[in-house]
Amino acid sequence: MENERAKAAQRTTRLHLGMEAMETLRQVEEFPDNPLAMGYFYKLFQKMFTGDSMLPENKQIIATMCVQVPDELIYATGAVPFRLCSGAYAYDQIGAEFMPAKSCPVVRATSGMLNINEEIWGDKLSSVVIPTTCDQKKKAAEQIGDWSYNVYSLEMPSSKESDAARFYWQESVKQFALDLQKITGRKITRKNVKKAIAKKSEAGQLYRKLHELRMSDSPVILGKDMLLVTNAFFMDDIDNWIPAVTKLLAELQERSSEKITVSGRNAPRVLLTGSPPVFPNIKVPILVEQSGAVIVADEVCSSSRLLYDAVAYDEEILNDMIPAIADRYLKPCTCPCLSPNNDRKRKLVEMVKDFKVDGVVYQAFSGCLPYEMEQMQIAKVLEEAGIPMLYVETDYSPEDQGQLSTRIEAFIESIKMRKRKRKGGIASAAGRL
Ligand code: SF4
Ligand code: SF4
Repeated sequence: MENERAKAAQRTTRLHLGMEAMETLRQVEEFPDNPLAMGYFYKLFQKMFTGDSMLPENKQIIATMCVQVPDELIYATGAVPFRLCSGAYAYDQIGAEFMPAKSCPVVRATSGMLNINEEIWGDKLSSVVIPTTCDQKKKAAEQIGDWSYNVYSLEMPSSKESDAARFYWQESVKQFALDLQKITGRKITRKNVKKAIAKKSEAGQLYRKLHELRMSDSPVILGKDMLLVTNAFFMDDIDNWIPAVTKLLAELQERSSEKITVSGRNAPRVLLTGSPPVFPNIKVPILVEQSGAVIVADEVCSSSRLLYDAVAYDEEILNDMIPAIADRYLKPCTCPCLSPNNDRKRKLVEMVKDFKVDGVVYQAFSGCLPYEMEQMQIAKVLEEAGIPMLYVETDYSPEDQGQLSTRIEAFIESIKMRKRKRKGGIASAAGRL
């Protein structure tokens, strides 16, 4: 009887999940002139969220959370990484049954997903690797460990400023490499690590090319599509993701040379930062672009922070490559669980200049204290740089859509007015000359 009830709950959740994903995809595909190569990503999400299982078939899976788990070491064992951080309201509602009301939706949805799929996923996931990032992830790790999962807590320092912190992290990653060999039953060799670094770096190079393309005055891809491309990296087979992005890049480069743009030349250019937008919850980015703006850059852990940085090593020996991998995951990290986090402020100001950003949208999920608290410092830095910022607190429920839409539209309108005024000012100054 108990078993029957659990099965019925699973079926209902999968149904809700499918409907939620299809609704997001409907909104995404409703935009005109979507690049043809985006079809691969739309289909991928549809298949994953409406099919029988999201997990890769016939592979040894090492599940991860956050962005600090080194994919290269997982690939080096022949296993595949699968990032669990969930953006699904259907799973958030499952998590809400046993998690505190004030917990953040990422943690609630991820725990809900692991809980409801425990019976099947418990065997399929060789390990669930959770870095000790924010307090909620740390506490969720303890709870998930009580279920049928083999939880691995990857110890991360709370600062990256001192040599001691960097050394501590390097040791943590070395230990992880040793433990991964036990978990997977496969040896990590110099050759495999080199191959894995090269594979991830190929993905990173493609991402950086897309990133550079977004700096152009005439954007060729909308932010909602960029988020789907990067979110897909969480779950897709890297050997499928690379050719799909290569195809997309070629199409975008052609659009760029033919001066085809996804928005008017004067559309406000927005940078998105804050708590991570993860499919199907990309409502804020969609609302921003439905208001006539274009997200030309993002500083979130579900997109740019995931793929931008590369591993740089000097010698092809494990003793050099593994610390280099560790450095790649700590040195450029701008997660708000790090304190101080001045790098994030510096990076945001730099991105605002490089991408000619007119305004910043900062989303914080209700219950995400690290991002809620950091917004005051970020607002100050941006104000000093003369860049308007909209701060929105939201969650995974569709209920705040109307209220969010009103605030976002007003913000985008104010940026448009500002741009018009600036242009008018320049024109009248030119007239006076
Ligand atoms: S911002 Fe950092 S700590 Fe927070 S969910 Fe993303 S990777 Fe994890
Ligand atoms: S950083 Fe914020 S959004 Fe990410 S898991 Fe922690 S509380 Fe949640």
